[in-house]
Amino acid sequence: MRGGWRGAMSTVGGLTRTYGLQRHFTKEGVDGPPPRIDRTSLQRVSRYFRPYARQWLVVLICIGLTAGLNVLPPFCVGTILDRAIPDADMTLLALLAGAMVGLALVSGLIGVLQQSLTAKAGQSIMFDLRNELFRHLQQMSLHFYTATRSGEIVSRINNDVNAVQGVATGTLVAVASNVATLTATSIALFSMNWRLTIVAVLVVPAFYLPSRLVGAIRRRLADDTQESQASLLAFMQERLHVSGSILTKIFGQQEPDAGIFAEQSARVRDLNVKQAIVGRWLFMILSVFSAMGPALIFWYGGYQVIREQLTPGLLVAFAALLTLLYRPLVQLASVYVDVQAAIAVFDRILEYLDLRPSVKEKPDALALAHTEGHIAFEGVRFAYPAVVTTGEPPNDGDPDEPATEPFALQDVSFEIAPGEQVALVGPSGAGKTTITYLVPRFYDPDAGRITLDGHDLRDLAQESIRQHIGVVTQETFLFHSTIRENLLYARPDALESEMIEACQTANIHDFVSALPDGYGTVVGERGFRLSGGEKQRVSIARALLKNPTILILDEATSSLDATSEYLIQTALAKLLRGRTSLVIAHRLSTILNSDRIVVLDAGRVVEIGTHHELLDRAGLYADLFHQQFGKALQLDGERRGVGRESTRKEEQK
Ligand code: ADP
Repeated sequence: MRGGWRGAMSTVGGLTRTYGLQRHFTKEGVDGPPPRIDRTSLQRVSRYFRPYARQWLVVLICIGLTAGLNVLPPFCVGTILDRAIPDADMTLLALLAGAMVGLALVSGLIGVLQQSLTAKAGQSIMFDLRNELFRHLQQMSLHFYTATRSGEIVSRINNDVNAVQGVATGTLVAVASNVATLTATSIALFSMNWRLTIVAVLVVPAFYLPSRLVGAIRRRLADDTQESQASLLAFMQERLHVSGSILTKIFGQQEPDAGIFAEQSARVRDLNVKQAIVGRWLFMILSVFSAMGPALIFWYGGYQVIREQLTPGLLVAFAALLTLLYRPLVQLASVYVDVQAAIAVFDRILEYLDLRPSVKEKPDALALAHTEGHIAFEGVRFAYPAVVTTGEPPNDGDPDEPATEPFALQDVSFEIAPGEQVALVGPSGAGKTTITYLVPRFYDPDAGRITLDGHDLRDLAQESIRQHIGVVTQETFLFHSTIRENLLYARPDALESEMIEACQTANIHDFVSALPDGYGTVVGERGFRLSGGEKQRVSIARALLKNPTILILDEATSSLDATSEYLIQTALAKLLRGRTSLVIAHRLSTILNSDRIVVLDAGRVVEIGTHHELLDRAGLYADLFHQQFGKALQLDGERRGVGRESTRKEEQK
């Protein structure tokens, strides 16, 4: 694949999408830094909960009520044993038994209310986060997409945001309800028998020490697992993808790829197994400690009953309450781990939200409602930001940091007058595509400036620049939706008649109308497969529909059959007519039709002029021209010569 518009990429209406082959892939999951549990990140996380403060408050009230209600049944049992049974009081017995059912019913109903509120609030937080992330990532510069694996981004939005649901409805509610239960139970226990309570509480510290140790191990494992799962997902998405699988097949990499996959998959398996085992160990240790509590109570409480300092009913009630005390303790111990995992999840999301696009909009950016289409490059120097090869989200290139890479463009100056067609010519890697990236301001130059109608692009609103620019690339990307939706992406308010007119001009209308579903045919990655030529004509129609003042065209190098070629050429000619255009030219006819040719070599402009001027100069252009077209012209000339000769012969006869 040549250098231009890398991957299967295309721009429509100034919106850019890349998919498929990312250049960098890390085999190993990356050990990220341990999650920062600092105040600022907690504050930032709480910002997402704030809009639903009222729901959370009701949830807290529900939790408090449930905790209070749950303490009561043991008292019923105690009273049955100590009063109803010894006094043979049937009414009290029935009343207390009925109360136990009633309490369960009420706390169950409160539970339902609480669950529906937490689910709604939790899902709403996810909804907000997902939208914010999507919008944020949309703003990122092109560099971000070329430097990140597409699977990685999808995984982050998907898995991490889903994990937030668990945090909001699981972890936080669990913490609150455990704290409430703990408080209510402690109060009840103390009010019953303080000596016995102190004995029971003595066992408590033993819960924390082992759980901390196992918790730290679990946290590290959870992080590692998440990273390797994301890595595995990204690998799958690349390899099990149209372009990726073509590469795999062409280069015969099935076996090595399967090996890498197995290796990564094994890592996921081992980490998950480890996680399960460590979790079970934590459970085992805590269970032993929680069995110690009741044992101690029956031993010491039994002694008090024998000495008639305690009634048997109260001892039973006390023991029952004790399980209420230990359960939240066990859970709180592991919740500590869960909270840490939750913070790690939020951290990963915040990390992405912290990325700043390298192409920044000025607060007072000028919106250019109309453009003459006068473009000027003035001493432009540009280097691509360094690519991050770790699993960390790539920084979107810090514009303040001097670029260290070799420069893709150096001291580039040239102008395109309104309505002029300028062709970019030069060897591969000369910087032609880079120039076409800089015009819509996908990147900013490191030095010099680019102006549109005399305004520095950096002073203009990005959207207003791109609104005037149409792009037709070598490889056309169509979304997985109908042809109509793909076309209207350029201008959603276009009329059906305008869309059809654009398709007629682009020589694709007849083809589309002949499809069974016409413009409703679903195309794209998993839809109806259009041929390369058809896709190109759809993208020409898409650009026509946008009707931009400025057109950037990256001519396809792949040769098509003569009919397709003819259809595309005539469509392109109509598209280019009357527009300011910058063309990466590969065809002789395009070069000859251009008003001026800018010749690039190794990032520098080496020649500028018309075709004839440049041929006369006998420089790089002349060399390239003869290399590329000399033979074709010669053949063409010979063919014409032969043709003329045979006609003459015929005439002589
Ligand atoms: P051309 O279109 O003339 O073939 P390009 O503009 O694509 O050339 O490339 C100019 C130089 O910039 C080349 O050396 C190329 O390797 C480099 N380059 C292009 N895209 C990137 C990128 N995304 N990251 C880093 N370097 C790049």
